[in-house]
Amino acid sequence: MSAVMSIDTKTMTDFLIGLLNTPSPTGLAEKAVEYTERAFAPFLFKMRRTVKGALIAEWEGKASDAPRALTAHVDTLGAMVKEIKENGRLKLTKVGGFAWNTVEGEGGTLFTASGKTVRGSLLLVKASSHVFGAETGEMKRDDDAMEMRLDERTTSEAETRALGIEVGDFVAFDPRIEAGPAGFIRSRHLDDKAAVACIFGAARAMLDAGIQPAQRTTIHISNYEEVGHGAASGFPPDIVELLTVDMAAVGKGQASDEFSACICVKDSGGPYHVDMNRKLTQLAQAAGIPYKVDIYPYYGSDGEAFWRAGGDVRVGLIGPGVDASHNYERTHTDSLVHTAQLLAEYLRTE
Ligand SMILES: [Zn+2]
Repeated sequence: MSAVMSIDTKTMTDFLIGLLNTPSPTGLAEKAVEYTERAFAPFLFKMRRTVKGALIAEWEGKASDAPRALTAHVDTLGAMVKEIKENGRLKLTKVGGFAWNTVEGEGGTLFTASGKTVRGSLLLVKASSHVFGAETGEMKRDDDAMEMRLDERTTSEAETRALGIEVGDFVAFDPRIEAGPAGFIRSRHLDDKAAVACIFGAARAMLDAGIQPAQRTTIHISNYEEVGHGAASGFPPDIVELLTVDMAAVGKGQASDEFSACICVKDSGGPYHVDMNRKLTQLAQAAGIPYKVDIYPYYGSDGEAFWRAGGDVRVGLIGPGVDASHNYERTHTDSLVHTAQLLAEYLRTE
């Protein structure tokens, strides 16, 4: 086996930034699926969409007696309009699992049914401390305490409805991306767009080097992961391994960091398949790729969605480390590169 794959960091990061700039709350992720499909087009994968809207790309392997799949998701946390309030502002309902305080003060875009967009921001209903004093700091952030203020002239329910806004419209929170010279990338929704970028980076490196996967590999780009059923369907019936590529949880007590390829051996759904855990660890060791083995305490994945749906495969999970996940997230290009390298090792090894 030759040396560890060299990954084009700039191209991978540019792909990631474009994807981060494509709003895709769960339920309205089609634009991000399209973006990924366009980026994969030069790779000549055989591509199709599932009825549910996931992107499926088939990559021919040297063999197909034990086919594999990768999955990562482009859908992100977001919100929907729950009620149009008397003051013309919007009560939202969360899409995905996050705490309101993590998006308090964030800008956002609302998408109407007719395709129009309206800008605004998410605020506490008692946002001004000049008006509400200590309550602004003390109020519990729950569904009733938060509202979307629209950057439009409206102070009534009727005026907001006249803008074409209705219950059920999607809201995407701004990614607020910053990629600095030290290699850190700060943005919302690195979960799981960073992992999609790792797949892009690994595939591109292998294609540039003329390396084919050892086995036929299905790449599954999921659009409903944040609500739990993304990759429950969409795979060919003959796959035997599913490698989930999703963010690693970084924080106190965690082994994962923003610089390594992180291998998750257990999360809230229980242990990943022991053969996959061992194989991934051995591949990282053999290739000299910096890696961490970790357990995520409050975490589920699309690999488990497939298991629960009846998928008879060995499931594993790797990903780049993301600090402050489901909040204002951050990772580092080192983690992206090392995860892409481990992916390439996995794909090309028999
Ligand atoms: Zn995720």
